[in-house]
Amino acid sequence: MVVVKFGGTSVGAVPQIDQAARIVQSLRESKPLVVVSAMGGVTDALLQAGEAALMGQTRQRDDKLWEIRSRHDRAINELFKDRNVIHELQEAHRVLWEEISKVFPGVSLLREMSPRSRDLISSFGERLIVPIFSRYLRSLGLESEPVDAREIIVTGEDSEFILVDFDETRKRCHKLSKMAKSGVVPVVTGFICSTPAGITTTLGRGGSHYSASIIGSCIKADEIQIWTDVNGVMTADPRIVPDASVLDRVSYKEATERSYFGAKVLHPQTIMLAVDEDIPLRIKNTFAPDVAGTLISAETPVHQYSVKTVTSITGMTLVSVEGRGMIGVPGVAGRVFTTTARNRISVLMFSQGSSEQHISLVVNKQDGDNTVKALRREFEQEIDRRRIDRITSISDISIIALVGEGIKGVPGVAARAFGVLGSANINIMMIAQGSSELNLSIVAKQKDAPRAVQLLHEAFELNRV
Ligand code: ADP
Ligand code: ASP
Ligand code: MG
Repeated sequence: MVVVKFGGTSVGAVPQIDQAARIVQSLRESKPLVVVSAMGGVTDALLQAGEAALMGQTRQRDDKLWEIRSRHDRAINELFKDRNVIHELQEAHRVLWEEISKVFPGVSLLREMSPRSRDLISSFGERLIVPIFSRYLRSLGLESEPVDAREIIVTGEDSEFILVDFDETRKRCHKLSKMAKSGVVPVVTGFICSTPAGITTTLGRGGSHYSASIIGSCIKADEIQIWTDVNGVMTADPRIVPDASVLDRVSYKEATERSYFGAKVLHPQTIMLAVDEDIPLRIKNTFAPDVAGTLISAETPVHQYSVKTVTSITGMTLVSVEGRGMIGVPGVAGRVFTTTARNRISVLMFSQGSSEQHISLVVNKQDGDNTVKALRREFEQEIDRRRIDRITSISDISIIALVGEGIKGVPGVAARAFGVLGSANINIMMIAQGSSELNLSIVAKQKDAPRAVQLLHEAFELNRV
């Protein structure tokens, strides 16, 4: 059995849906289980409608919802000729739109959107596309059933710290493998899940990859295929570096580092699950299905280049705790971490100079203010006594990461990287090298990030990989 996941770009409109469905058709013999994301941009649009509802902007809210509705209606009308089929899908959508028309005014009325409401709001994109995709497979002559992942993937109650209950999920996945084996293609909503009490939860933005690997690992699939709009994992984001090249093989370890540091292609937990079950992951291009793509597996391919990828993540904030008096304040680093953990702030990078006068951490922009406030509260006494001089933040920064198993033990990678950025006048605000030595991360201003990625890509000759 293979799990086949299509991202939002692969189901964004009729020609794409058709292309994706034909790929499933061609995989018929492998007993495919399909996972789909919402149509590209729909999750964003739902959240924007939610924000508008929250602000009481009912006109904007309804305009956004109307836009989403028309996109799906258009897809139904263009994909199907048979009136009965169109009615059947319209009926399935009518039920969903009834729910939507209660949820959004509810937010407007309460002027409140909890993480739980946000999860429910963002769940509709996947729930709207799945019946269409499944029905389209049937029109191509395959047996298929739509499946709401909330009946399959079970998580804990806490919508901010999603933990999947694998024992329960594995039991429920049994239904999917039975379907696939009997020749019925299940089309499962990516991204969404639910608590045992039936509360809708999600796996976080871009979470459909994770859905695919949860299902893949629970049914012990032979392969998990991620179908997207590029030819595979590349040496850099092709939108930033047009001559980036595709990597034909990537080890699990490298893929984990890479996804952690920015590349949108994969979600870190996705890879971990595949690692545990030793299931190969393949990244393929929906729009060029004959291209081999990237195979991510346990074997480390031998590579003459030390660095394989340069990635960047934007929208970060750098928070600094400074003070000469910090020397001798016990456990500052420990207390920084306890504070961020208590406030559910995830720290993407951390560094402390050996002089103990400076601690820096990188967090997501939306957590920036909260991090500063929480740390100021935590170190109130030290600030009063002038042992800590200041806790400050700089927003709009990026983490640029060089990744590759070959970085390990190859001297001069850091020197070369710093040299290149220095000559281009790009200020390096912080650096870190993981102990795995697979990753060298550099913090710089967001406005410098694209140029830094391009320069590093060139300096390490990645277009020749
Ligand atoms: P999907 O709709 O399939 O989920 P996404 O837009 O979420 O697709 O992710 C695919 C995009 O990720 C590509 O179009 C590409 O611009 C971007 N990307 C960023 N870094 C990389 C990389 N190293 N290799 C390939 N693609 C990358
Ligand atoms: N639709 C969700 C998102 O946009 C999940 C996904 O696409 O993987 O984040
Ligand atoms: Mg995506």
